Amino acid sequence: MKSVSKKNKMSEKKGLLKGGEFLIKQSKCEDIFTVDDFTEEQEMMKESVIEFVDREIWPNKARFEQKDFALTQEIMNKAGEMGFLSISVPEQYGGMGMGFVSTLLVCDRISGATGSFSTAYGAHTGIGTMPIVLYGTEAQKEKYVSQLASGEKFGAYCLTEPGAGSDANSGKTTATLSDDGKDYIINGQKMWITNAGFASIFIVFARIEDDKNISAFILEYDPENPNGVSLGDEEHKLGIRSSSTRQVFFSDTKIPVENMLAERGRGFKIALNALNIGRIKLSAAIIDAGRRTITESIKYANERKQFKTPIAQFGAIKQKFAEMAARTYATESGTYRAGKDIQNRIDELTREGKSHQEAELEGIKEFAIECAMLKVYGSEMGQFVTDEGIQIFGGMGFSEETPIESGWRDARIARIYEGTNEINRLLSVSMLIKKAMKGQIDLLTPAMAVGNSLMEIPSFEIPDYSELFSEEKVIIENLKKAYLMVSGKAIQTYMMELENHQQLILAAAEIMIEIYMAESTVLRTEKLVKRTSKEESAAQISIAKLVLYNAVNKAQIFGKEAINYFSTGDENRMMKMGLKRFTKYTNEPNVISLRNTIADKITKENKYCF
Ligand SMILES: Cc1cc2nc3c(=O)[nH]c(=O)nc-3n(C[C@H](O)[C@H](O)[C@H](O)COP(=O)(O)OP(=O)(O)OC[C@H]3O[C@@H](n4cnc5c(N)ncnc54)[C@H](O)[C@@H]3O)c2cc1C
Repeated sequence: MKSVSKKNKMSEKKGLLKGGEFLIKQSKCEDIFTVDDFTEEQEMMKESVIEFVDREIWPNKARFEQKDFALTQEIMNKAGEMGFLSISVPEQYGGMGMGFVSTLLVCDRISGATGSFSTAYGAHTGIGTMPIVLYGTEAQKEKYVSQLASGEKFGAYCLTEPGAGSDANSGKTTATLSDDGKDYIINGQKMWITNAGFASIFIVFARIEDDKNISAFILEYDPENPNGVSLGDEEHKLGIRSSSTRQVFFSDTKIPVENMLAERGRGFKIALNALNIGRIKLSAAIIDAGRRTITESIKYANERKQFKTPIAQFGAIKQKFAEMAARTYATESGTYRAGKDIQNRIDELTREGKSHQEAELEGIKEFAIECAMLKVYGSEMGQFVTDEGIQIFGGMGFSEETPIESGWRDARIARIYEGTNEINRLLSVSMLIKKAMKGQIDLLTPAMAVGNSLMEIPSFEIPDYSELFSEEKVIIENLKKAYLMVSGKAIQTYMMELENHQQLILAAAEIMIEIYMAESTVLRTEKLVKRTSKEESAAQISIAKLVLYNAVNKAQIFGKEAINYFSTGDENRMMKMGLKRFTKYTNEPNVISLRNTIADKITKENKYCF
């Protein structure tokens, strides 16, 4: 691993955290952005999106379950009229140019009512539009971006093929230059294409000759003049039933040469960068599903009586509400923290003279690790919260009459698309190692310091932890040491062969994700308490402590798994002692009492209220 480069020292000086650096640096609560930091403009945007969803989407939930594809398109049109499709598009192309945090905010609040609409919205505004915004020529942007931003036309992203899913660069769709050199002739088949049923601008990935990497093209599709494009029937899916998902076939489809995106062979890069944005947006898109599921579930649990008692009063049910709220709040904390970090980096690069396009691309790429982690945590939060929601509703939870079962079915896809969670876990660790190898982040020095500290005799003094979160911050710092110990040893042992030890990488990813979420949650809450008081924020304090407690437990399990895999004998014992030290509380929290505090607040407010 190289030492940190000059260029990276520059952004260090300005106090901005780089992607992945949360593992080696301690942030202060003032350093992170939270939902309480929204500007007035963002608050107004939030209210207008909530009002839109409550008026147009939530009352129509049943129609979405009946595969009413026309309704999805109709509401997409209305979202276009409201300007919700243009938040992240620069003003010169008809957009609002509101920046990354606002993009996440709208994505969050517009997505909670049904996965059908959120998938259509996410695919259109993210992977359907952003490749042109970020890689298009001036002419391409002028021609297509304003049509997409207004909702005059909808976008789809054609990457996956029957034989090329996670291995997206292995697609067999071909692009051959026509004899007159004016067009590329596309032949092949794509599958699982969101919005295919109503989109008219397709981003198509295809290989030219035997290029190592695929290329990307913009295709205008007009059903009246199909140009060799045909669509399969709508897929019958477990969830997101009104989201259009079809196969797309290309038979000698002509795309003018000027519609190639970026250069020949850049398609795979475009695909990866589009996915980075898609991942953090997906994590945002799940937050409101979490909030709404909790609200619907507590309304039911406060009403429903068994054994002459509202079921919300039972400890077993309180446990569920506390864990559901903790994960929802953690996802929100991590997503907006990373979103603002991305925005800050984009602003910094713009000030340095980069174009909007370059700045946005680099800014998002810088935080690709966080995007991958958030996608994993957010999608698993969605699955967990909706599953527990069904359980709270009991038999009624299994019925189509409640709003919960569709939420559970809709949530399932989030673990699969935008890169499966397995791929994202593997990526989060491998991207970090690559950064270290390139000298963009110095993992080596702190990892060696942790290694040396294992030999030291630990202090037996009992520290003063009377200040709020003082112990939690020490634990977070120690969890980072646990991560560095495990991943440092894994790299040292397997070097270039590490990628063949996937279960080890998954264990490391698990610890890394938990650290990010727990740190984001604790810092957000500390910031909140500074604005309010410990009394007012008692439930949020309990959430932060619960999220950290769960993170510590996971670090113990996965740390042990990793250590037992790559070490034996004295070394194994020493590292496990280190792990024990790095995951040790001086004052273990009363976790049942934490959960009760959280659940009692939700019960009293009769809604998700954090
Ligand atoms: C409803 C829906 C909408 C979609 N929308 C779009 C869209 O708009 N555009 C588009 O291009 N695609 C879209 N997709 C495709 C989606 O991105 C892929 O399904 C996803 O990337 C996984 O690919 P796959 O289905 O081929 O699964 P595979 O790649 O075959 O994976 C199967 C399993 O193997 C695991 N696996 C694969 N490779 C590895 C590895 N190297 N190491 C460890 N585990 C591995 C995976 O994690 C998974 O568990 C959509 C899919 C669905 C279901």
